[in-house]
Amino acid sequence: MSDKPKVKVATVWLGGCAGCHMSFLDLDERLFDLFKLIELTVSPISDLKEIPVVDVGIVEGAVCNAENEHVLRTLRKQCKVLIALGDCAITGNVPALRNQKVLTEVLERGYIETESTHAGEVPNDASVPVLCNNVRPIQEFVKVDANIPGCPPDADAIWYALTELLAGRQPKWNPTNVRYD
Ligand code: SF4
Repeated sequence: MSDKPKVKVATVWLGGCAGCHMSFLDLDERLFDLFKLIELTVSPISDLKEIPVVDVGIVEGAVCNAENEHVLRTLRKQCKVLIALGDCAITGNVPALRNQKVLTEVLERGYIETESTHAGEVPNDASVPVLCNNVRPIQEFVKVDANIPGCPPDADAIWYALTELLAGRQPKWNPTNVRYD
């Protein structure tokens, strides 16, 4: 067993579909090798009241609301290397499709024109996240050190990127190692 301290990693999930994190789990038995090198201190199933200081932050999803922005900015302060995992984080991708409409139209479509649990009203209480006017990729808010493209990136791409970064190298992307399902 190496005496080298494990690399502390926090992963967070902003506006997205969780597919990127599911791909992360598709590493299967390679997770055992990975966890010899890293310690996952925060994940989407953690209670995210505070983000501790970590070496690497991994972000899935785009910034869709004020809470997403707060989590992203906090993680950036707390980590040395920030990785955008998947195209929603890198470009806005699927959640950014709503940018084709103004926010009021989106809310009316979601809460008034379609059946909802809010009695045909746009909710206006503190329990509902305040949506941003436009969905934006994370590099518009913070410095990003590496991208793992794809929708979702497949497990091989995630493995490649993490092992390269852990070895101190930048991953290089080409059409053979980027997946779009
Ligand atoms: Fe889901 Fe694709 Fe966005 Fe990942 S990049 S969160 S798989 S839509």
